[in-house]
Amino acid sequence: MIQDGRSGKVILLSHCILNMNAVCEGSTTPSHHPAIVNEILDLIQAHQTGVIQLPCPEQEMYGLDRKARTKEFYDNEEFRLHCHALAVKVVQQIEEYKRKGYGVVGFIGRMGSPTCNVEGNPGIFVEELSKELQVRGLKLRMLSFDWRKISECLLELRKTLSQR
Ligand code: SF4
Repeated sequence: MIQDGRSGKVILLSHCILNMNAVCEGSTTPSHHPAIVNEILDLIQAHQTGVIQLPCPEQEMYGLDRKARTKEFYDNEEFRLHCHALAVKVVQQIEEYKRKGYGVVGFIGRMGSPTCNVEGNPGIFVEELSKELQVRGLKLRMLSFDWRKISECLLELRKTLSQR
């Protein structure tokens, strides 16, 4: 890693954690977090960790004024290919950081999203991301953001950020 004072640590966030304007219609999260999930960002900043904001797969393909849909709706060939292409680029970035000695501390997805859910039934993008990580033999810690369980998320995040 280049030694010029940089922290040497990054974390990947689902796009909407830093920009709630991208979520689908009907989500309750923006009423609690209109733009940025400040609690998450503050904690990350306190641990001197850089942020890689991932693209929003749904917004890129279906636009900003899309309705809330099920995973079954999104599980079509076109959207899978789109998510796969994004996942390949993301994993290439992860690989580059790791190869150069940076810590890639994890990824925070979004609970209940048909695309970015991490826990239980993974979303389409998370499935494609996991497959691509496996292909390249990389491991990535995955955490979950849910505004109803923000304290649990922050607890996990604090542990994760403190590990390196
Ligand atoms: S697709 Fe992912 S990044 Fe986009 S709004 Fe949904 S959870 Fe957020």
